[in-house]
Amino acid sequence: MPHSSNISAALFDGEQPKDPRAILKQVYGYDAFRGKQAAVIERVVAGGDAVVLFPTGAGKSLCFQIPALAREGVGIVVSPLIALMRDQVEALKQLGVRAAALNSSLSPEEYSEVRRSIADGTLDLLYVTPERITTAGFKELIRSTKIALFAIDEAHCVSQWGHDFRPEYRELGHLAEMYPGVPRLALTATADPHTREDIIDKLALRSAEVFTTSFDRPNIAYEIVECDQPRQQLLRFLSRHKGSSGIVYCLSRAKVEETAEWLNGQDIRALAYHAGMDRSVRDTNQDAFLKEEDLCLVATVAFGMGIDKPNVRYVAHLDLPGSVEAYYQETGRAGRDGLPSDVWMAYGMADVIQRGRMIDGGQSSEDIKRVERAKLNALLAICETPGCRRQSILAHFGEAHPGACGNCDTCLKPVETWDGSEAAIKALAAIYRTGERFGTGHLIDVLLGNENEKTSRFGHVEMPVFGAGKDLPSKTWQSVYRQLLAAGLVTVDHEAFGALKLGPEARAVFRREREVRFRKDRPTSAKASRGASSSGANARSSLEGADMELFEALRQTRLEIAKGLAVP
Ligand code: ADP
Ligand code: MG
Ligand code: ZN
Repeated sequence: MPHSSNISAALFDGEQPKDPRAILKQVYGYDAFRGKQAAVIERVVAGGDAVVLFPTGAGKSLCFQIPALAREGVGIVVSPLIALMRDQVEALKQLGVRAAALNSSLSPEEYSEVRRSIADGTLDLLYVTPERITTAGFKELIRSTKIALFAIDEAHCVSQWGHDFRPEYRELGHLAEMYPGVPRLALTATADPHTREDIIDKLALRSAEVFTTSFDRPNIAYEIVECDQPRQQLLRFLSRHKGSSGIVYCLSRAKVEETAEWLNGQDIRALAYHAGMDRSVRDTNQDAFLKEEDLCLVATVAFGMGIDKPNVRYVAHLDLPGSVEAYYQETGRAGRDGLPSDVWMAYGMADVIQRGRMIDGGQSSEDIKRVERAKLNALLAICETPGCRRQSILAHFGEAHPGACGNCDTCLKPVETWDGSEAAIKALAAIYRTGERFGTGHLIDVLLGNENEKTSRFGHVEMPVFGAGKDLPSKTWQSVYRQLLAAGLVTVDHEAFGALKLGPEARAVFRREREVRFRKDRPTSAKASRGASSSGANARSSLEGADMELFEALRQTRLEIAKGLAVP
C-alpha cells in the first residue's frame, strides 16, 4: 500500500545510494524483482548505460525509477505522450515519490512550482517530452541540479523502422555529449533486430549493456481468421468474453465510430477512441475503460501506448496492422496480469491491398518503403502459416520457441493442407495471361468463367484460362491468391491499383520444380463450411476428370510463361 508522502527523502542515508531491494519494498510494496530488473538496476545505479528490451508489462518503469531513487539527484525521463507522463507521475505521487512532469499542458503556476523543486533539489523524477529536453531553456533549468540518470522510454520512437517514429527522438543522441558521465537507459517493448540497432546507434548507446528477456506472452492465445462477414465474426468472438473488457482495433476513425455504434446496438457496451475525437470525450472514454470491467473500447492505434490496464481480456483486430511489431505491441496489451487472454484478428486480401497502398502513397523514401513492404509481408506470412502462430511470431524476433505452443488457433485445430500445384498454376496463368494488370476480383471472374462487361471487353473470354478454375469456389481462389502472395509467388502492383504480378519464384511452380501446398481455410459460417471442407477434394477429383483440351491449353500457357520468365 502507498506510504506517507516524502518517503523518498527518508530513503537517503547521507550521500550513499540506498539499497534497491529496500526501495522496492518500502516504496512499491513488492517483495522481489522480476526477471532481469535487478540486473538492470544494479548496472544503472553503478553509473552504467543500459538498453532494456522487455515485453509490455514486464516492468520496465522500475528499471529507471528505482535507480533514480537510489542515486543522488533527479532522474529525467523522456516520454513521448503527455497522457502517459501524467499517469506515471500520478502513480508515483501516490507512492510518495516526488515526481513531476514538464510539458505544454502546465499552467504558469504549475510550471514555476516544478522549477522551484528542481532548483531546490527536492525532486526524484522529472518527466519531459523529447522536444523539450534538448532545448537551451531546459539545459538552463537543470544547469545547477545534480542529475541521477536519463531514461528514454518507448525508445523505439527513435527508429524509422518502428511504427511510432518521432523525429524529436533523434536529438536525444546528443544527451551523451551534453551530460557526460550521467547514466542513460533506453527502454522499449519493440525488439526486432533493425529497431534495436537503430536505438543503439541513434541514441549513442554503443557501450550500453543490452538486457533482453523472452518476448513470449504465454497467457495470450493467438487466433487469426479469414475475413468473411467481419461484424458477425467479431460478435461471435466477443460473445466468448461477456463481462470482461477488451480493445477492438480498426484502421480508420470512421470505422471506429461505426463499429462502436453497431456494437452498442448489439447489446455490447462499447466506447470509441481515436485522435480525431474531442479531447475531453476521448479522455472520458479512456478513463472509463481503465476503470470498468465490462467495456469494449473500439480504437485506432492512437490508443494504447503506455496504458497500464492489467485485466484487458481480449484484443481484436478488424484490420491488418502494418507489421509484426505493431501486431505484437497491440495484442500485447491483453493479459498484463498474466491471466489467460485471447487475441483475434480477421483479415483478407483487401487489407493487404489497402496496407500496400498506404505504404506506396506515404512520404517515406524508397528504401524505407521497401522495408515497410517487407514488414507487411512478414505479418502476412504469420497470418497464412499452417504452423504454430506463437512460434512464427517469436521467430520474427529472433527467438526459438521449443515446439508448438498448443494454445494458438493453428495448434488447437491443426490446419489441413491440400496439394495446390494445379490450382497455383491456374491462378498464376490467369495473372500472366491477362497481362499482370488485374486484381483478384477480375482474375477470379476469369478463372470461374464469369462472362461480364470486363471479361468480354478485354477479350479474356477467348482465353484458354477462362473458366479453367470452375472446379473451385470463388472463396478458395481468394485464399489461393492470398497464400501465393504470402509465399512471395505473387506480388501486388500498388501503382496499378492492386494488380497482381508474378513473383520471381513463380517460374518454379510452372516448371513443377516447386510443390505448392495450401492451407484449407476454416469454415466461418455454416454455409461456407460445406464449401470449404469439400474444396480440396473437389479440386482433385474434378481435375482428374478434366477436359484434355483445356489441359493442353494450360500446358501451353505454362510453357510460354516458363520461357517468358526465364532469366537469359
Ligand atoms: P512495462 O513498462 O514494461 O510495460 P510497467 O513498468 O508499466 O511495464 O509495469 C507493469 C506492471 O507490473 C505495473 O503494474 C508494475 O507495478 C508491475 N510490476 C513491475 N515490477 C514488479 C515487481 N518486481 N513485482 C510486482 N509487480 C511489478
Ligand atoms: Mg512502460
Ligand atoms: Zn501454437
